[in-house]
Amino acid sequence: DKREDGALTAVRQSLYLNLLICLIVTVVVMLLLHRIVRRFQFKIETQATLDSLTGLPNRRGFDTMAMRALKQAQRDDKPLTAVLLDLDHFKQLNDTHGHLAGDAVLTGFADDLKSCLRQSDIICRWGGEEFIILLKDSDREGARRVAESIRVLVEHHAYAFSGSTLNVTVSLGLAQLQADDSLQSLIARADSALYHAKQSGRNRVSDDI
Ligand code: GH3
Ligand code: MG
Ligand code: MG
Repeated sequence: DKREDGALTAVRQSLYLNLLICLIVTVVVMLLLHRIVRRFQFKIETQATLDSLTGLPNRRGFDTMAMRALKQAQRDDKPLTAVLLDLDHFKQLNDTHGHLAGDAVLTGFADDLKSCLRQSDIICRWGGEEFIILLKDSDREGARRVAESIRVLVEHHAYAFSGSTLNVTVSLGLAQLQADDSLQSLIARADSALYHAKQSGRNRVSDDI
C-alpha cells in the first residue's frame, strides 16, 4: 500500500505540474492574443476615421471631434467658426491634366491647409474636393483672416505634378457658432456662405451675414 501511495503521489504531483504549465501557457497565449486584437482594432479604427489620400480626418473622424468642440465652445461661451472650402473648377483640372494630377493637388492643398492652422483646430476632408475646418477660439474676424490667408496661399501655390506645375483656387464660406446652433445648422450656414462665394466669382471668402 505504502509503495502504491508513493507512486500515486508522484503521478499526482506530475499531473498538477502539467496542469499548472498548461494554465500558464494558456494565460500567456490569451494575453498575447488580446494585445494583437487590441492593436489590430486600433489600426482599423484609425484607418476608418482617416482619409487615405490626404491623411486628414474623414467625415466619420470629424463628427466625433466636432461634436466635442461644439459642446465645449457653447459650455465655455467661447467663439468657434466653421469654414467650408471647395476647390474651384476642379473637374476642369481633372479633365485637362488627369485624375492623378487632381490627386496631387488635393494632397498639396491638404498640406497647405494644415500649415495655416493651429494644432487645436479641426480639419476634415468633407468629400471630393471639399474640406471643412473648425477654428476654435476664433470669432468671425479671426476666422476671416485665417480663411483669407488660406485663399492667398493656394492662389499662389504652384502644385508640382510629374515635372509640371498646376494652379488652383479655392472658395471659402464661413459661419460663426451661435448659442442655439447644432453642428448641422452651423455647417448649413457655412454652406450657404460658400454658395455665395461661388456665385460671386469664386476664389473668395464669404460669410453667412
Ligand atoms: P466648382 O468651382 O463649382 O466647385 O466646380 P468644380 O468643378 O470644382 O465642382 P464639381 O462638383 O463639378 O466637380 C468636382 C470634381 O472633383 C469632380 C470629381 O471628379 C473631382 N474629385 C472628387 N474627388 C476626387 C479625388 O479624390 N481625386 C480627384 N482627382 N478628383 C476628385
Ligand atoms: Mg464641390
Ligand atoms: Mg469645386
